[in-house]
Amino acid sequence: SLWFGDPKLPTTEGGINPAEKTMDKTGVPYSNLNKTQIENWYQFKNLPDDYVGFYQKDGGAINLPETLKTFYSQASIAGVQMLENTPVLDIKKENGKYTIQTGEHEFTTEKILVSTGAYVNDITKYFDKQIKLDIWDMVSAYFEKTNPNIDYPTWFAFQQPNDENSNLYYGFPELDWKYKNYIRVAPDYPFAIYDSPSERKKPTSEDFKETEEWVKNHMTDLDSNAKFKSTCMLGLPKNKNKLLYLDFITDDKNVVVQTGGWVAKFAPTFGKICSQLLINGRTDYNISHFKIESEDLK
Ligand SMILES: Cc1cc2nc3c(=O)[nH]c(=O)nc-3n(C[C@H](O)[C@H](O)[C@H](O)COP(=O)(O)OP(=O)(O)OC[C@H]3O[C@@H](n4cnc5c(N)ncnc54)[C@H](O)[C@@H]3O)c2cc1C
Repeated sequence: SLWFGDPKLPTTEGGINPAEKTMDKTGVPYSNLNKTQIENWYQFKNLPDDYVGFYQKDGGAINLPETLKTFYSQASIAGVQMLENTPVLDIKKENGKYTIQTGEHEFTTEKILVSTGAYVNDITKYFDKQIKLDIWDMVSAYFEKTNPNIDYPTWFAFQQPNDENSNLYYGFPELDWKYKNYIRVAPDYPFAIYDSPSERKKPTSEDFKETEEWVKNHMTDLDSNAKFKSTCMLGLPKNKNKLLYLDFITDDKNVVVQTGGWVAKFAPTFGKICSQLLINGRTDYNISHFKIESEDLK
């Protein structure tokens, strides 16, 4: 994993200096790099002279298809039943229990975990709560290698914002489970921000232009025309002091909500915390900084 750019820049995804501090504290080895090393060893070009960074040899991309298969099989072995295409359409509390309606089914339960991501308020409305989130809609794309012998590491460029956007970009190596001879490069800023996913719109080719420019100006051996384009939504707390939410949402402590943040990587830990909260009413982890407070609600 290669991080480079302005080491002092704070972003919603952290920064170079704090990451180095954490690695120093926890004994994770890494190598410091200057601009020339980043360009010569990892094929970037035309970087500003004052850019520095680090390379951490064990960092990289999570194989999400395999991770999901593992989660699904572990859950199935434990007796969990999963239903696809089954939106929750109503929740009511009767005689101390919750009744959940979907189109075809009705479930009765004491405990609920709400983890509907950007769609969280479609469910929390049944508990008369609405969480203040900015819903980021983000583009990403793949770029064809013009030299099959090169590869990039997993990388993130921490750059000062420009007039249009945060100017942050990231990318991955060619991955076994994705397009052959293509690598992903994406902006770490949204092309649109919504209050609700119902406002979702499609990106235009303009929304990929700045990423194509970044590839053209700063990467070698790639065709700078974006291919295999896609979008993805992410909820981030409007409250800039919060990175994500994980808390009870009802006074009976029977309903837990996790939403917001860059949290795919925390799925196993957050799953454990959520189950501890629902089964024991408390958790061994300090989650005070993920609390949903009155100022976080509409
Ligand atoms: C471009 C992009 C890059 C990212 N990169 C990273 C990264 O590098 N590292 C990282 O850790 N995180 C990353 N994230 C964030 C990560 O994708 C999210 O944190 C993660 O997907 C959240 O998982 P989730 O299961 O809570 O929610 P989601 O993945 O959003 O899933 C929510 C689920 O709820 C379902 N649902 C919605 N409404 C209802 C309803 N009414 N009834 C029933 N089900 C419903 C949906 O169908 C969906 O399956 C990225 C996000 C984006 C957009």
